[in-house]
Amino acid sequence: MKKNEIWRSYGTDYKDLTKRLLRQAGLAELLPSQDARIAIKPNLVTPSPAEFGGTTHTEVVAGIIEFLQERGFYDIIIAEGSWVGDRTEEAFEYCGYRNLARSYHVTLLDTQKEKGFTVDCGGEKLTICRCVKDWDFLINVPVLKGHCQTHITCALKNMKGLIPNSEKRRFHTMGLHRPIALLNTFLKPDFIVIDHICGDLSFEEGGNPVVRNCVMAATDPVLVDSFVCSLLKYRIEDVPYIRMAEKLGVGSSDLSSLHLITCEGTPYEDLPAQNLLDVSYAVDEFDSCSACYGVLIPALERLKEENLLEKLSVPVAIGQGHRKKTGKLGVGTCTHGFLTSIPGCPPKEDDIYLALKEYILKDS
Ligand code: SF4
Repeated sequence: MKKNEIWRSYGTDYKDLTKRLLRQAGLAELLPSQDARIAIKPNLVTPSPAEFGGTTHTEVVAGIIEFLQERGFYDIIIAEGSWVGDRTEEAFEYCGYRNLARSYHVTLLDTQKEKGFTVDCGGEKLTICRCVKDWDFLINVPVLKGHCQTHITCALKNMKGLIPNSEKRRFHTMGLHRPIALLNTFLKPDFIVIDHICGDLSFEEGGNPVVRNCVMAATDPVLVDSFVCSLLKYRIEDVPYIRMAEKLGVGSSDLSSLHLITCEGTPYEDLPAQNLLDVSYAVDEFDSCSACYGVLIPALERLKEENLLEKLSVPVAIGQGHRKKTGKLGVGTCTHGFLTSIPGCPPKEDDIYLALKEYILKDS
């Protein structure tokens, strides 16, 4: 497979579709010797079934495992760490990965439990899970999704599951985009299989899946994310970490040189432009974690639908930048110094919705 290629297939037999795609795209020619340890990195951001649009389908990972085992590769690890606020172990269970690992005799590795080591990434020190040192070949298996902070999430951002939780929090204090780009200078997947079966186009945790029944394969994460921008009708500039990663030599965002190869099936019609209900005017966001911001936005949307949001007299503070500060209204333990602070790290969407509703009704 050439760096400027993205291969894709459409169909509903996800496991066999993936196997055929990997054969057609030439994964076998890229694999190391059979005694190599191969890591598969899905996206299990939260314990929700893949059909909700937030997590990688087990069928896609099963297709990859069968492809590898049929070629004599048996030292296979599935490694992932859910976002801050959810436990990977629960995601392994609810997303079907425990059964998957049992059936294929592969190892599940919860990177939330891994110790970190510090490494120079593009001139900046980042902490990465130690397990990555033990792998010979990394297959990144992101879900093509929208994201309420970065607009899109796919190949580049999926590497965040291979850093400890403390580092995930720190990434948000560093502005999120730059550390994602830096991380990809060190964590370089050897192959990328993209689950574009039914990702949620607004929120990374899923909830509003948009069915496309597509699996894609590529090797350049910058090209993949640039292509995702075009699919979701964003400009590449709307997602700053893509160009940052390109400048650091991670890959190319040049879509004019993209060679898109459709192996099987017929592409669906274009994805709709994303029209997130804009509730950001009601938020005072400062270095918030995705898990926190990702539950606040739907809670605010519920209030907006009930015509309550416009009655909110102060913005809702959220994020690590509000630690040790005071104010009127905040969400998450980072705002515990505020007069009204909705507890949790991150809080639950329902708790935020109910507490804000009570606040608005008392206030008005
Ligand atoms: S409370 Fe603070 S640290 Fe916890 S998830 Fe929210 S922003 Fe992150």
